[in-house]
Order: sequence, then C-alpha cells, then structure tokens
Amino acid sequence: MLAGPRKHFINGQWVDGHRAQFFPSLDPATGERLAELARGDSLDIAEAVAAARGAFGQWQFSDGLARGRLLGVVAQKIRAEAQELARLESLDTGKPLSQARTDVEVASRYFEFYSGVADKIGGETIPVPGPFLDYTGREPLGVCAIIIPWNYPLQIGARAIAAPLAAGNTVVLKPAEEASLSVLELARITADAGFPPGVVNVVTGYGDEAGAPLASHRQINHLTFTGSVEIGKKVAAQAAANVVPVTLELGGKSPNIVFASADLPRAVPIIVRSILQNAGQTCSAGSRLLVEDAICDEVMARVLEQFQSVSIGPGIDDRQLGPLISAQQKARVLRYLTEAADQGLRISQAPSLPQELARGNFVAPTMLHDVPLSHALVQEEIFGPVVTVTRFGAEEEAIRLANGTEYGLVAAVWTEHVAQAHRVARRIHAGQVFVNTYGAGGGVEMPFGGYGQSGYGREKGLEALRHYTQVKNISVYVGD
Ligand code: ADP
Repeated sequence: MLAGPRKHFINGQWVDGHRAQFFPSLDPATGERLAELARGDSLDIAEAVAAARGAFGQWQFSDGLARGRLLGVVAQKIRAEAQELARLESLDTGKPLSQARTDVEVASRYFEFYSGVADKIGGETIPVPGPFLDYTGREPLGVCAIIIPWNYPLQIGARAIAAPLAAGNTVVLKPAEEASLSVLELARITADAGFPPGVVNVVTGYGDEAGAPLASHRQINHLTFTGSVEIGKKVAAQAAANVVPVTLELGGKSPNIVFASADLPRAVPIIVRSILQNAGQTCSAGSRLLVEDAICDEVMARVLEQFQSVSIGPGIDDRQLGPLISAQQKARVLRYLTEAADQGLRISQAPSLPQELARGNFVAPTMLHDVPLSHALVQEEIFGPVVTVTRFGAEEEAIRLANGTEYGLVAAVWTEHVAQAHRVARRIHAGQVFVNTYGAGGGVEMPFGGYGQSGYGREKGLEALRHYTQVKNISVYVGD
C-alpha cells in the first residue's frame, strides 16, 4: 500500500475534509488496498467551489500569455515526472504500464496544446449598418465543475482542466472513487507550476456524496461530465435546474466497419488494439466488428489468432492486457458472457487465464460470433475486452448496422476505395469517424464527443474552448 492518506486539494492546501474520513482505493490486479482517499462531502465541495469562485476574481483578468506559460510549465513538469506518474496510473487503474506512459504523454500534450492557444482566444468585428463599431469578445464562464471516470484519469483530467484554465476559468474536479491518485498529482503539479491557490481544486469521494453536490451547486458555471449515461442524465438535470451549461461524454458502442477491399494485415492489429486497449474499458473502444460477408471468416480467424498471443497480467508488469478496474466490473462483464452462452451464442475466448491471476479482475479477450443488431451485447456498453461480430452484405446494410445503436461516439471505416470511405464516413451517426485507422496520435487536437446517447458538446482541440467561453457583443456609436 502507498504511504499516507491522500487528501483533497482545496485553495492550494491539502485538507482532510470536514468529516476527516478516508476510504480505500483497491489495486485491480490483486484486490488489495492501494491507498486511502479522503471521503469528500457537500461541505468540502462547497469549500472548493468557494475557493474557485474567489480565485476567479483575479484569474479571469489574467493575460492569456501568462496563463499559456503556466500551462506550458505544467506540460514540462508532467514530462519530467513521466515515470512516476505512469507507474501510479498503472497501479491505480490496472492498465499496462506502456499504455499508462502514453496517457502521461497525452496528458502533457493537452497542457502543451492549450498553452499555445491561451493568448489567441479572440472575437470578431461585425459589419453593421449605420455609425457603429460592433465587435465580440470571448470571456471565461467562471467556475467549471468536472466529474470524471476511472478509465483514463490522467488523460481525461488533463483535457478537462487545461481547456477551461486556458480560457481564464477556475476548476473544481471530482475524480472517480476507483482511481483518483494521478489526478491528485496533477493538482500538485499545477501548484508547483505556479497556478494561484483556488484556480485548481480536487475533491475526492463517492459519486453520490461528492459528485452530486458538485453537479447541483448553484455557484458553478459549467459542468463537464464523463461517465455513464445513467449518471450523465442525472447530473445534466441537476445542472439544468441552475441554468448551468453541460458537456456530456457518455460512452459508446463504436463499430469497426470492414469492407472486402480492406488491407487486413494492416487493419486487424489496429482493430484488435481498439478493443483490447485498457481491457476494453474505453468509451471509444471498437466494441463492434461489422464485416462484409465475403471476408468475415477470414477477419474473425485473424482476430482470434491475435487474441491467442495476447499476454495478460498486472498492469505494472506491462503485459498487453491488464485487469478490469474492479470485482464488480468483472462480474458485470462475466454476466453478459454467461447470458450469451445460455442463449446459444458462439463465444471464442483466448488465451486461457493463468491460475495465478484468479485473485485479480482479469477477463480474457472474447469474441462473440454473429450477434444480431437487436441483441443487448450489441446495444449495451460492456466495458470489457469483448467484441461482437456481425456480418453485412451491401454497403447500405453496413451503414444501417453501424447506426443501429443509440450511441454515436466513434466509428472506423476500413476500405481501399476512396469514394466509399468518404461516402460511408458522411453517413455514419458519430462524432468522430476514422478511415483506415482507429485513433490518430492521441487525438489532442481533434474535437471529441458524441451523437445521441453518447452525449453532447465537444472536448479536445480548439472546439472545446467554445464551451469554456461566453461571447460578449459590444456595439459602439462612432457617428459624431
Ligand atoms: P462508471 O460506470 O464509469 O463508473 P459513473 O457514471 O458511475 O461511471 O461514474 C463516473 C463519475 O461520476 C465518477 O466520478 C463517479 O463518482 C461520479 N458519479 C457517480 N454517481 C454520481 C452522482 N449521482 N452524481 C454525480 N456524480 C456521480
């Protein structure tokens, strides 16, 4: 277990919280206690929001240039501590160490990206009839509340705080109770970098005890929520009651659509990675494989061959597949698989799990054959290393299947025909479509967010800044 309890970070101080109670954060690879986290409540949230509101008074008028420089220092400090941060993230989430290293690098790049744009957030002059000068400016909103999940705490935490800070907002972040450690380190790094007290605050704790009072707080000015549809709807309704705008990123059921012309030797390893990365616990995981009839058996055989060679073990040992985050999550995934087996669906699972991993939350890579569109396995987010396969005949059917869930986060089209690639991409109901790839270098610069039940609003890239600023129009009479 890591030494010492982890406290809240409020107004530049490490504090126990009003109750001074702590709860355990477990190691997903062993189920043992990894750390103690402060158990925040509504009073801690109120204190953090008050600190953020107080800090906003000055911070909102800071120069974009100065803010950008501070963000740049955070990026450098994250890189300087990359080894330790990656280790911590891997221990806390169970993800393989090399994937955690990528997360650290991407977290650093968010700060780098928004560092470069903090002094470029401007407005426009608008031609109007008559003797008037009309122009707009973009102003920060105030206190941005952020609630994030456990699957990519550092990456999601970094993107969710760097963009609002660049625009001159202050933030209060509630990480997930399962994995909060790296986000607390991030808070420390922002303070080390020179962000004034109160600009960045982190309150740890359970969703209903700390998350709910944050979402419903009357003094927040924006809410960014990443997590389940169920809780997303709840927090959005709470924010709506206070006329607080919301960005929701709620997961997906993203398809890889593979046409007969696809370059399979290139495509299959990327498709496999899209479902096995972080053990499938990725909102944008490629959890549905839609394959043209003519090549479906071949694609399945190739995917299974790759599954067979996957190494499994604790994240910190840096195998290819780590454990799921918790015993509950493992039980949930296994329930789906038991039901599928009871219904007679064909399931391929490989390789078999080594005996010594029985204590951890491990699930072997799993393929479900020929699952119809209407099936729960195709419709519901499983959040494990589980891919469903569905065959299609014509392009029209591929599009119908791809658009056949309530989600719409990401999709990938695999084809060697350029017109088909663009034609299909245009018709896919999703916020992000890849062609002959799945992901493009971390995605820091690209707007990210969903259609339908995947949520609304966009994070990442320049697009995110629109959500963290409000437009002011100023009209000046210049006649005399
Ligand atoms: P997941 O299924 O990925 O755990 P959740 O939506 O349950 O997704 O959790 C995502 C984040 O939302 C976590 O930080 C969690 O603590 C928080 N959360 C859970 N319940 C609530 C709630 N009622 N109000 C606000 N936040 C919540």
